[in-house]
Amino acid sequence: MSKVDLIGWGRPPRIVRHNLRVVFQQSEASVMSMINVTLPDGTINEYAEGITCAEVITDALGRKHGCLAAFVDGVEKDMSTKLSSSCSVEGILSVSEEGIHILRHSAAHLLAQAVTELYPGALPTIGPAIERGFYYDFKMDPITEADLKAIQKKMQFLAKQNAVVERIELNEEDLKSHFEHNPYKMEIINDKLEDGAGSTIYKQGEWYDLCLGPHVPNLSRLMFVKLTSVSSAYWRGDQEREQLVRIYGLVEPTKDALQSTLKNIEEAKKRDHRKLGKDLQLFHIDEEVGQGLILWTPRGSIIRQELQDFISFHLRRQGYSQVFTPHVGKLDLYRTSGHFPYYQESQYPPLVEKDLMKKLADEGCSCSELANLMKSGDIDGYMLKPMNCPHHVKIYSSQARSYRDLPLRLAEFGTVYRWEQSGEISGMTRVRGFTQDDAHLFVTEEQIAEEVLGCIELVQIIFNKLGMTDYRVRVGLRDPDSDKYVGQPEAWDKAEDACRSAAQSLGVEWTEEEGEAAFYGPKIDFVVRDVIGREWQLGTVQVDYNLPERFDLSYKGNDGEMHRPVMIHRAPFGSMERFVGVLIEHFAGKFPTWLTPTQCHIITISEKHKQYAQEVADLLKEKEIRVLVDDGDDTIGKKIRTHRKMQPAYMVILGEGEAENRTVSLRARNGDQVSDLPLDQFIEDLMTEISNKESQPCLVPSQPQSED
Ligand SMILES: [Zn+2]
Ligand SMILES: [Zn+2]
Repeated sequence: MSKVDLIGWGRPPRIVRHNLRVVFQQSEASVMSMINVTLPDGTINEYAEGITCAEVITDALGRKHGCLAAFVDGVEKDMSTKLSSSCSVEGILSVSEEGIHILRHSAAHLLAQAVTELYPGALPTIGPAIERGFYYDFKMDPITEADLKAIQKKMQFLAKQNAVVERIELNEEDLKSHFEHNPYKMEIINDKLEDGAGSTIYKQGEWYDLCLGPHVPNLSRLMFVKLTSVSSAYWRGDQEREQLVRIYGLVEPTKDALQSTLKNIEEAKKRDHRKLGKDLQLFHIDEEVGQGLILWTPRGSIIRQELQDFISFHLRRQGYSQVFTPHVGKLDLYRTSGHFPYYQESQYPPLVEKDLMKKLADEGCSCSELANLMKSGDIDGYMLKPMNCPHHVKIYSSQARSYRDLPLRLAEFGTVYRWEQSGEISGMTRVRGFTQDDAHLFVTEEQIAEEVLGCIELVQIIFNKLGMTDYRVRVGLRDPDSDKYVGQPEAWDKAEDACRSAAQSLGVEWTEEEGEAAFYGPKIDFVVRDVIGREWQLGTVQVDYNLPERFDLSYKGNDGEMHRPVMIHRAPFGSMERFVGVLIEHFAGKFPTWLTPTQCHIITISEKHKQYAQEVADLLKEKEIRVLVDDGDDTIGKKIRTHRKMQPAYMVILGEGEAENRTVSLRARNGDQVSDLPLDQFIEDLMTEISNKESQPCLVPSQPQSED
């Protein structure tokens, strides 16, 4: 069949819409083969073979379609892709997840073009799209942040020139001749390409790069770029290889989107829990104690304790039993549970008993022999616990259980230890020791649905109380094509249904994801979106058929027979460390009154009001309200500036009038004020606010103009 070049036809060669009859003249039809293109709304259009995605989309949506690439039978393709057989076509908008990715990826190419034009000796290596933007690594002399401005300017200049981005297929020989000058690209070609295979390059103007695409159709799509930082990296992440210059950047489809992204990044910096945690004295990490090990300071401990008290109240209400278990367990326990030796890399190394250690040393046992003996189970030792589950299992099996004992719900704020690589450790969110708000429910199969529902109710109560109303739920199900799962398929069906209907009952956005279940059971994950649009994976609920099997757990049913219980693991906060880290950023350090470490900072206007200040403080303390008094000599302005840094819920300002009339003046975090509140009324209102766990301080009415 001869190919008909459609470029220059002006209008795409639409033949007949909706019905598939060809109404071409006989002579034309004979040179042109027709294909059926299915559009997202189900419409089927017939076109001449060789039509491009761009032409199909323009035909369907008009010239202002805003798409920068297309799915052809679900696969991402360039707009210029010619269609050679019947298929489905769907445009990819620049604002979609795939669209943004293509935009970022294309911007990385533009960056490489700009750098090589400005620094002729620079060799581009790799440049991927990443979560927030893109980067490109170059072999070149070091540059500084000050140099980024010129590179960015060059990128914008090139974008304005609006070169067409062209995909070119090359055979192996041509490909290699294009990249002879660049040993990094040659290494990729030699590593990735099978012998004799060709690949594609993308060309914009005279510049080209090795790539599989897809790309934006032309460079004007990349006007809204911003280079953000420069750092160094090793070729292929290998410290033994060459050091490279890495340039990071952002790109968005519109000016407004770029501005709002930049604003969010600024806001995220301000909210960074590592900075705020230090400023507000909430936690400390000390190299001498160890990386990734959190020291909860008195102020941070208040927040954690309040959260634990809050959740404990709901656990009691839901019929949980509190337990405590040690921080270590024998290796045998984890051999049975399966956590050792399989997950050794993510754990602290085991501890060996003193006498045994001495004996082995006397026998001249080497470190690697010791490790092998442990792995094979020939010697025993202890491990810092990576999970609380095996300990709770042992509490279950410490007694003969009957169906009357079930569901048995064991809860513990249990501290566990995991070996994160030092590069991965960050503040409170990636740590090596953390406390899970953990619980294990031992249930009959019939009880799974109700108990899963109870677990997610708890998550919902917590999220609602903390004003984290923007969250979604992921239900992880089996991969239908895999047989790696333990437990009976019928049991799985039921458990998966239970998870689905529990998720459904929340009334929030939820998705089910095949293949995302653990091998031991389906699960529900909660993903919270914070005020600046970042997503945090927090709580989880998991059904488990595996551990009861491994530990041979049983209960006597009302039929008199022995049955296997099912376990549910759940941790609504996930870990206290991570959760508080997220909360610090969520509230930007401005906690609701019930969580604020020092709720009231009492500030005197002068020396004369010392006594009244003490009296107010005592009355508040009597009601278990957390108070700090500043009756020092500083001016009131200076005191306010000092204290607002610690973000109390209220500054209570006491002067002449207040002392005389037994009133208080309150200053809110945003600078709004209210004066002459009767003291008794204030204390009563404050107690109500705290016991209601209001999501923000509300005793000072907001005023139209405030400081910040
Ligand atoms: Zn590319
Ligand atoms: Zn568990």
